[in-house]
Amino acid sequence: MRTLNDPTALGAEALERRARGETIGFVPTMGFLHAGHVSLFELARPLCDWLVGSIYVNPLQFGPDEDLGRYPRDPEGDAASCASAGVDMLFVPPELYAPDHSTRVVVDHVTRGLCGEARPGHFEGVATVVARLFGLVQPSVAVFGEKDYQQLVVIRRMVRDLAMPIEIVGAPLVRDADGLALSSRNAYLSDTDRTRALSLNRALRAMRDCGKKDVAQVLALGRSILDVDRVDYLSVVDAENLEPKAIVDGSARALVAAWVGGTRLIDNIGWR
Ligand code: AMP
Repeated sequence: MRTLNDPTALGAEALERRARGETIGFVPTMGFLHAGHVSLFELARPLCDWLVGSIYVNPLQFGPDEDLGRYPRDPEGDAASCASAGVDMLFVPPELYAPDHSTRVVVDHVTRGLCGEARPGHFEGVATVVARLFGLVQPSVAVFGEKDYQQLVVIRRMVRDLAMPIEIVGAPLVRDADGLALSSRNAYLSDTDRTRALSLNRALRAMRDCGKKDVAQVLALGRSILDVDRVDYLSVVDAENLEPKAIVDGSARALVAAWVGGTRLIDNIGWR
């Protein structure tokens, strides 16, 4: 595995490889990699000739009071994880935006609720950085985790609307043995917080398995199980367009964002 920091050099190599007919696979991350990230690399590996992983903690997607300054980092561990998962090129740009960077990508509709409502500007930052990275890396396939379910829907919508010739592959959510969704932010949790955090997955599973169809009842059940300090949202939505649902069917997806101590956690589950 090689590592590049310079966006111009990465872009030039990607264009050369495309011109030679190679297919490029891409997995963007913010680093502090865990088994969830590794599963994305492993899913992407057989889908391309050249696999690029990126690590960039994107300031545009953090709100002014969020954890940009203390986001966990582990450059050596990340490089080892990427190398053993079959990444060919680890791209770690110190900076991605020109000082007079002027373009933002705004994806409407699917960003109005859920994390879009709780974190104003977040998905604009995500769509902007992913479009910027896609322009450099020139992937024909890119893998995103269902852990950040709304993000996956937003990227699919952006790629469709802007006719980007890129296949977006969604990867299943990877959990710890106790059911906690793996997240770089789990590093912030104390032992007590971590035990309480398990209530997110417990609530989602109970909602899916209760057999009730009426979403109001399903949500009431979920709320009664959540053991958290604050709920940003607990919703049952259509898995494709994220519109709220009144009745559960096979296209339903439950999403939750909640705070345990000072840590904001997200999780989600599908009905099929
Ligand atoms: P992040 O580093 O948090 O920006 O995540 C980079 C990519 O890894 C995103 O596509 C995430 O959805 C994905 N990801 C993070 N955690 C998990 C997980 N537990 N299971 C599957 N994918 C994940």
